[in-house]
Order: sequence, then structure tokens, then C-alpha cells
Amino acid sequence: MSDQRESTATAAAPGSSPTKGPRLLTGSPIAAQIREDLATDFAAFIERHAYSPTLAIVLVGADAPSAVYLEQILRTCQKVGVQGRLVEIGVDVTPDAVCTEIERLNADPEVAGIIVQMPLPAHIPLRTVIDSIDPAKDIDGIHPRNAGLLSLGYDGFLPATAQASVEILKRSGIEIAGKRVVVVGRSNVVGKPAALLLLREHGSVTVLHSRTRDLGHHTRDAEILVVAAGRAGLITGDMLSPGVVVVDVGINVVGGKILGDVDFESARHVVGAITPVPGGVGPLTNALLLSHLLRAAIDQAQRRVRAHATTSAAATSAAGSTPSTARPTQ
Ligand code: NAD
Repeated sequence: MSDQRESTATAAAPGSSPTKGPRLLTGSPIAAQIREDLATDFAAFIERHAYSPTLAIVLVGADAPSAVYLEQILRTCQKVGVQGRLVEIGVDVTPDAVCTEIERLNADPEVAGIIVQMPLPAHIPLRTVIDSIDPAKDIDGIHPRNAGLLSLGYDGFLPATAQASVEILKRSGIEIAGKRVVVVGRSNVVGKPAALLLLREHGSVTVLHSRTRDLGHHTRDAEILVVAAGRAGLITGDMLSPGVVVVDVGINVVGGKILGDVDFESARHVVGAITPVPGGVGPLTNALLLSHLLRAAIDQAQRRVRAHATTSAAATSAAGSTPSTARPTQ
């Protein structure tokens, strides 16, 4: 049984070798390719619609990790040629005022996508804020409508980090179908949507969380392990089976260093492939987020064209001429 398990997992990680160390699944080259394609597509969009779609980033009360993340996302906006608009709201704000600000962004035709930086201050209820985002602009898939679409397997906006953790496997040629896949973490933004996406890819998925007893018992069973717990070094080499493919989503700042949830030093002797931290899932997340922005902008532009056509037809009909004699719109 264990022999079979080992060979299956190793086969899923071509390029790994006990002497050379594990295969590193880096996100940066994949992200660079996505950004390059996006830059072309956004340029075409801007030429056609004569405006640059804006990503609005709502930040309620500043903290240090947010600042680092914000710099990265604003830089990615610049790279693909779109506007990033930082909407800073003071920490002493009321929940109603945050929702009013989001509703203003919902109504702004230049704003194609809205993300809200987490965590929010304790006095701002997360659910109220999430509910106030227009699902058509919810490009990080946190609104209940998009979360519902994901759980039913329909198209909607996916949470970008969860999507990145699956996309890095797919684009690295790692087969998910039929594999024993274990996800550590069940948050609405990462663990739970990652588990649903891996299920969509036909993995046999187990979800672990803070109340799981004997984590290692379950993680050792994994052929693919996705870790999103926010605990530096939670998963050590002795909790892994040989040849396992590991996606480390964790970003933990410890003593000025960025560390993952997997203890890389002990894990590298066991795994077949692993995403580095930093440089793994992180870069891909932003690129995917901006691909959602493009989709949102296209959907919204098409909806405006349809609404305009309907209004024009109604006006024509009210003026007494029939639409069949009118010139078709180009
Ligand atoms: P969260 O705190 O909302 O959720 C953590 C989850 O881990 C919970 O479901 C909890 O049950 C589980 N957990 C915590 N301690 C555990 C333990 N000891 N054993 C088993 N399960 C445990 O965090 P989140 O927002 O889901 O983020 C998870 C990690 O991913 C964080 O490190 C975060 O910084 C990182 N993250 C990375 C990116 C990226 O782009 N790479 C984006 C967002 C979040």
C-alpha cells in the first residue's frame, strides 16, 4: 500500500529527484505569462471602449501586512495597464459609512472590480460589508452569490488565492483527478473554495482545520497537500508521505522574514514538488485577480451596450416608428 502510494505521488511530480531536491513549483513565470496576455487584452479593451477599467481597493484602517500587499497589487495593475484606485477609510468609521463608500463604487461605471482588504477592524461586520459589494464587481469571489455559484459548480468570480493554489498545480502539469487531496484550512476565502475547486478537478478531497485531531495522520495520506492555515511551519517533514506535491499558501511574517505554513527545511527531503514561499502561490494570485477584472469589465461593457440598445428601441417605438424600419445598429 505504501509502495503504491509513493510511486503515485512521485509520478505526479516529474523532475523531482532525491539528490537534487524537490521540484519547485514557482508562480512567477506563470504569472508573467498571464500578465503579458492581460496587457494585450486590456489594451484592446481600452481602445474599443475608450476607458481604462479601474480596480478599487477598499482599505479600512491601515496595517503593515496590508500595505505590502497593496503595493504589490497596485504594481500589477500598472504592469497590465489598468488603474488601481486605493480607497482609504479611517479606522473610526461606522459600518454604514463603509457600505455607502462601496455602494458609490458599485455605481461608478469606471470601477470594474472591487476588493476589500482583510482583516477589517473588529467593529465592522464582515458580512455587512461583503453583502454590499455588487456581485458583478466582486472579482475576489467573496459575495454569497459568487460563493454559491462556486459550490454549485457554475461560473462566477473565484477567490483568487484559492484559484491560484489549484492553477499552479494544473499549469505545472500535475494531475489532480483521482488523487487523495488534503486541504489544511477551511476559511471562506482560501481553504473552503480551494477544496471545492479541487473537487471540481475530481480530486478526492479531505479538509482539515483547527479542530482536527492528529493532523499528521491525515496529511501523511495526501498525494497532494494544500496548506492555508496561517501558522508558520505547521507542517513538518514527518507529517508528509514521500513524493507528495505540496502547495503552501501560507504567508507569515516572522522576524522580518516571510515564511510559509510548511517547514521547508524538513519538508524538502520528503516532498516530490513544493511551492516556495515567497514566489509560489502569491504572484499568481494577483495575476488571476486582474484576469477577473478584465472579465468583469467586458461583462459590464456588454451589459451597458444591451441596456443602451433596449433604451434606444423603446425611444424609437415611443416616437412612432417601428424598429423593423430603423437602421440596424453597428
Ligand atoms: P484564516 O485565519 O481565515 O483561516 C485559517 C484556517 O486554518 C482556519 O480554517 C483554521 O481552522 C485553520 N487552522 C488554523 N490553525 C490550524 C492548525 N493548527 N491546524 C489545522 N488547521 C488550522 O486564514 P486565511 O485567510 O484562510 O489565510 C490562510 C493563510 O494563507 C495565511 O497565512 C494567509 O496569509 C495566506 N494567504 C495567502 C495569500 C496568497 O496570495 N498567497 C492570500 C491570502 C491569504
